[in-house]
Amino acid sequence: LFVSFEGVDGVGKSTQALRLRDYLRGLGYRVTMTREPGGTPLGTIVRGLLLHGVDGVRLAGADDGAAPHGVSNDDVSDDAPAADISPRTEALLYAADRAQHVAEVIRPALENGGIVISDRYIDSSLAYQAGGRELTPDDIRMLSEWATDGLWPGRTYLLDMDFRASSARLTGEADRLESSGAAFFDRTRRAFLDLAHDAPARFRVVDASLTVDDVWDAIRADADILLAQ
Ligand code: C5P
Repeated sequence: LFVSFEGVDGVGKSTQALRLRDYLRGLGYRVTMTREPGGTPLGTIVRGLLLHGVDGVRLAGADDGAAPHGVSNDDVSDDAPAADISPRTEALLYAADRAQHVAEVIRPALENGGIVISDRYIDSSLAYQAGGRELTPDDIRMLSEWATDGLWPGRTYLLDMDFRASSARLTGEADRLESSGAAFFDRTRRAFLDLAHDAPARFRVVDASLTVDDVWDAIRADADILLAQ
C-alpha cells in the first residue's frame, strides 16, 4: 500500500502522516515514512536548491535542519548564476528528486511488502508546477509518469484549507516558495481540488481547518476501511 499526503503549505500534512505511521506500526505493519522533496541524499541536495535557490545552497549549504549531504561552499563555483530557478528547471528538479525517491526508497519498500507513506508526491507537482507556476498540466503529468515509471499511490489524503488560514500556521523564515503570494497558493489549492475531483477513487479530501484530532479521526476511519479491503 502506497499512501500520499497532499495539500498546500501549512495544512498539517506532516503531523497527520506521522500519526498514520505510528498508528499502522502499532497495528504491526512495516511502514516506511518519507517525503518530497528530499527523501534521499540526492533529494536533500535538490531540496536545498529548490527551497533556497543557488545562492541559498552556496551560502548556507543546508536546508531547514536537514543534513547538507556534501554540499559545501566549494561545490558551487563562485560565478554560478544567482538568478532564480526558472519554472521548467523547477519542474525538472522536482522530477529528478522524485525519480530517485521512487528508485531508492518507495519501490524497494513496496516490493518488500511494506506500507509507504509519503509527505507529498506526484500531485504536488501537478498542483504547484502546473497549477501554481502555470506550466502545461499534460507536460507535468508526462514528466512525472516518466520519472516514476508510472507509480501512483493507492490512496491520497488531500488536506484542504484556505491559504490565508494555513499560512498563519507557518512559522520561521519564509522559503523561496512561501514568498510566492496568495494568488499562487489559491491556484495551487484549486489544482489540488480539481485533481481530487478527477480521481475520486484514489483521493480523500479532508477539511484541514478542523482540529488535529478531528482530521486524524477522518483519516484513521478511512485507513481502517482501506486495510480491511
Ligand atoms: O512540504 P514541504 O514544506 O516539505 O515542501 C517544501 C516546499 O516546496 C514547500 O514550500 C512547497 O510548497 C514546495 N513544493 C513545490 N512543488 C512541489 C513540492 C513542494 O513548490 N512539487
